[in-house]
Amino acid sequence: MAGRGVKQQTMSESTLETETETETETGTESESSSVDPKGGGGLRWLEKLSDVPMGKLPPHLEFQRTHVECKADAPLHTDTIQYSGAYASLGVDNSVRMDSFCDNFRVEVMRLTEDDMEFDMIGIDPALANAFRRILISEVPTMAIERVLIANNTSVVQDEVLAHRLGLIPINVDPRLFEFAGNNTPNEKNTIVFKLHVRRKPNEPSSVKSNELIWSPKGSEFLLASEDSKSADTSSKPRTYTSFTCRQDSLPEFSNNAIKVMENILIAKLGPGQEIELEAHAVKGIGKTHAKWSPVATAWYRMLPEVVLLQEVEDEAAEELKAKCPVGVFDIEDIGKGRKRATVARPRGCTLCRECIRGGQQWEDRVSLRRRKNHFIFNIESTGALPPEVLFTEAVKILEDKCERVIADLS
Ligand code: SF4
Repeated sequence: MAGRGVKQQTMSESTLETETETETETGTESESSSVDPKGGGGLRWLEKLSDVPMGKLPPHLEFQRTHVECKADAPLHTDTIQYSGAYASLGVDNSVRMDSFCDNFRVEVMRLTEDDMEFDMIGIDPALANAFRRILISEVPTMAIERVLIANNTSVVQDEVLAHRLGLIPINVDPRLFEFAGNNTPNEKNTIVFKLHVRRKPNEPSSVKSNELIWSPKGSEFLLASEDSKSADTSSKPRTYTSFTCRQDSLPEFSNNAIKVMENILIAKLGPGQEIELEAHAVKGIGKTHAKWSPVATAWYRMLPEVVLLQEVEDEAAEELKAKCPVGVFDIEDIGKGRKRATVARPRGCTLCRECIRGGQQWEDRVSLRRRKNHFIFNIESTGALPPEVLFTEAVKILEDKCERVIADLS
């Protein structure tokens, strides 16, 4: 009868009516005689049937809706069922509702260090989780070296390779304190200038590291090419590649907070007598333009793994199961009389390598591997410009701005 009630919904309305009438005649469903399938209550008449789980999916469909099942050969139920009418025939409202989202959405921080964060994002759609990942990688701005003015380079590293290496050095400064330069003149609000001038003597170390990039708070010191050729005019200030109206270290945000780059990054190696003299100008940008502006080393997520033992795994089989798992998800417990039983001790560590369900059907019968579709373990590794928790809040703000733009365009 349970299967019959569900099946009825896929039939035509006339069939439904016939079946209901039949049940009334035979007396198998005493209440159905007072229910009119054509009545104005839509599908509410089905609620009167005790064997139809109205408003709630049967367990196997609920499992398919909320879990990816990982079999030895391929995962099952990988699709996310988003459309609101997906389970309408079962009386289940599958539409996206703000109130239920607010009730169910949670963020739980599991690990937080200066440049690394792991947190659980629960009750969210994979598309949104992926939007945050993509925004973190390519749309949260940072400062990176964009222009390199090379006065002298006698090293074996070509100018363009040198400029590329400099561009990839993370700059430890809050990008929110700066403006996008665009086509504007480089000034103290949109440009940071670093100087590098190294010349190696025979007994000095050959490596040139990022620590030797020195912040120049007054801007560029290199004269514009046109200024070089001008006749000496002592009355006006010579023009350089930037137009700072004040020193950056006179601004309150930098007065006690010198701008630095990440230390100990190898830039080049110099032989005795070789020299590099250059200016590097950093501007604000986003990872979509070039990866050097990406604020994260990585931003990634995975669905929460669930490892379930479908039957007791004991003695040698328990030992074998424990040995199969390379990350130690299983443990062994003593159940007395010299016997042992496998337990799932650390399911969160499961990498879904599927080793534990390989080796024959008996292992698939013993272990079930699943992933929750709406529970994401999110990892953010910052390059150092902003702490990872700030990066995430910046990503939320960017997504919010995008949504507001879409709403404004549609209204
Ligand atoms: S899938 Fe791999 S990591 Fe996960 S429990 Fe099985 S053996 Fe361990």
